[in-house]
Formats: sequence, structure tokens, C-alpha cells
Amino acid sequence: METVAPFIEIVDEIKEAGGETFKLCYQCGKCDAVCPWNKVITFSMRKVIREAAFGLTDIEGESIWRCTTCGRCVQQCPRQVNQIELGVSLRRIATTYQVFPTSVKPVRTISGSLVGDGNPLNEDRQKRADWAKGHSVKTFSEGMEILYFVGCYLSYDARLKKVAVATANILNKAGVDFGILGAKESCCGESIRKTGDEDVFRRLATENIKTFIDNGVKRIVVSSPHCYHTLKNEYPEFMVHFEVVHINQYLSELIAAGRLEFTGEYKKRVTYHDPCYLGRHNDIYDEPREVLKQIPGLELVEMADSRQNSLCCGGGGGRIWMETPKSERFSDLRVDQALETGAQVLATSCPYCITNFEESSLSLEPDDVLEIKDITEIINEVL
Ligand code: SF4
Ligand code: SF4
Repeated sequence: METVAPFIEIVDEIKEAGGETFKLCYQCGKCDAVCPWNKVITFSMRKVIREAAFGLTDIEGESIWRCTTCGRCVQQCPRQVNQIELGVSLRRIATTYQVFPTSVKPVRTISGSLVGDGNPLNEDRQKRADWAKGHSVKTFSEGMEILYFVGCYLSYDARLKKVAVATANILNKAGVDFGILGAKESCCGESIRKTGDEDVFRRLATENIKTFIDNGVKRIVVSSPHCYHTLKNEYPEFMVHFEVVHINQYLSELIAAGRLEFTGEYKKRVTYHDPCYLGRHNDIYDEPREVLKQIPGLELVEMADSRQNSLCCGGGGGRIWMETPKSERFSDLRVDQALETGAQVLATSCPYCITNFEESSLSLEPDDVLEIKDITEIINEVL
């Protein structure tokens, strides 16, 4: 903030963002009691709300960037405050004035990569479908049963490409007539929007929507809960509607229709982690469990915090791109919770969760063995 004039403007904008929230909030602190940050550091969303109401937010500080948008506080608030919306509006102000703490600076590079190549990983757009080579994956054309919207991490990340391959194998074995968009697919834009970069979100969303319309897309299956959330709940803001289905729902559908048959056994104890954007944000708790329970030999056990109380992995709200010191990672706590159940496998359905849990599992004691798997990878092993 170099001059007095923008400083005053910023204060007014903060007050405007905070004031509406503060009218509802009676500062009970129930949000802080459930916020995962308070398991690792001291952080108060209640204080963020109060400071914003008076225009006192330190827009260059870390506080406004902490929220992972996990949704725990929104669920608990007795006054129906949407703490996530307030957090994102404060980030929008910081983004407008380009003021970021050091831990958030990587997001600026990511924004450039999203605009230039349609992905946050600084990868070549033309290589988006390289993962599919040799796996009988067609390019989407009008009239196909579904569009498989792969997402950025599954398209490019060496570990997560295995999830895309497992998904394609399952769809092929079930005889689904599906295709992908390859280089024509862009990042869904969910996470960059939560960092306050509305312009980049709108650019990505309109690119995808135009591609869907031009290619006659009607039904979309997605792997990432973040893609699911934004395609299903946020793209309708552009006055369009596509049927969006998460792969867990689609697997449930395929099994019920008798299109998927398990020929092998998976003799392991498995616990399932509910990703925030599948569970709390979209109420999908039962389908993944139903699918896992149908796998022969698999024993499903629950962790201490499950379903609505699921402990966030720490990757939402754009945090996947920010620097989080090891001592502040909720994913370490979640991996411990999984081990406490005696599970050999921590299953989930989100690229951010897999990335964070795998990183946390690297520092386990040699006797503690925990595989991190997407549900599709487990199914692919028993088909
Ligand atoms: S739970 Fe709701 S009312 Fe209570 S402090 Fe948090 S935002 Fe305010
Ligand atoms: S959404 Fe989650 S991380 Fe953000 S303030 Fe609420 S409880 Fe904390």
C-alpha cells in the first residue's frame, strides 16, 4: 500500500465486505471451536469477522489466507454466517491491490499458468491428454454417453495420472461410451476463485462452457470434488446447465445397473476420508461407502472424524498452492487418525487429499504402513 488514497479505499472495501457478515455474527466463537487450524496453531475466524467489520483487516497478513474453505464453521454457525464468502471477499481485495504475504506468492505464478496454459502446473496445454495414450480413450464427440472431465492434477501429475488411467479402465470395462476433451479442457477454476482471483475464474469457466456447448456435451463425469462443485454449483451462474456427476456416484450407478462386475478380492482394511467438497459442500457421503462395501474382501472402518465432521486435508481454498510448514499440516493428523483405525489403506476421492496424505505418509515410522488410494484405483484392481 504505497499511498494514502488506496489505503482509505481498501479500508472502505474491507468494511463493506465485513459489515454484512458482522450484522449476523454475534461472536460466539463456535466457528473457532471446529476450525481445523486450531488443531495446529491459534487462528480465529471470529476475529477475522470482527476486524473486517471495522476495516481493520491486515490485508497483507497471513490470516485472510488461512481458510481452506473446508465448511466446518459454516455448518456449525448458529447465525448462518458464511465465513467462506467473507474470507474470499477479503482475498479479492488483496488480489485487486496485489498485496500478498510470502506464503501466498506462488499463487501469482499459478494464475499466469492458468491464463496461459489452462492449468496451474505450468504444463503444456497440448500435453493434457498424454496420460491417455495406450488406454483406449477417445476424444469426446456429440452423442457420446458421457464426457469424462479429467481435471488438471489427474492430467499432468505423475502420481495422479494413475487415477485417470484407473477411471478410464473402469469406464471401458463397463462398456461406457465416453470421451475426453484433451487440450480443449481447461482448469475448472474452483480453487483460483477461492483465492480471490475472480477474473481468472471467469475466463476459465467461460472457456470450458463454450467448449461444452460447441461439442454438444450434456452429461459430465468428474474425478475431483473441486471440479464437481464448480461445474455443478457455480457454472449455472453463467446461465447454463450440464448434468454433472462425481465418479463415486457414477460407479454406484454402474454397479446398480449390473455394468461392473468384481472378479477379484481386495483383502484389506480400508478407511475412507470424506473430501470437504464432496461431503460437507455437496452432501455425498453414502455413495463412496456403498461402492467400497461392495468390493469382495474389503473391510471398511471409520475414522474418528468422519462424514460431516471430516478433518480437512488442508488443500482447499487454494491452500494446495501455498506454503504450509510441516508442523501446521492437518493432513499429518488425518493420516494418524487413519492409522488409529488399523487400516492398511486410506481411500479418498480427491487429488488434493491424495497429494497431501501421500506427503504426510512419507514421514511415518517404518512400522506404520498406509497406502493412499483413490477409490477408482481400488476398483480397478478387482475388475
Ligand atoms: S459461529 Fe457464527 S455467530 Fe459465532 S462467531 Fe462464528 S461466525 Fe459469528
Ligand atoms: S471454512 Fe474451515 S478452515 Fe475456513 S474458517 Fe471455517 S472451519 Fe476454518
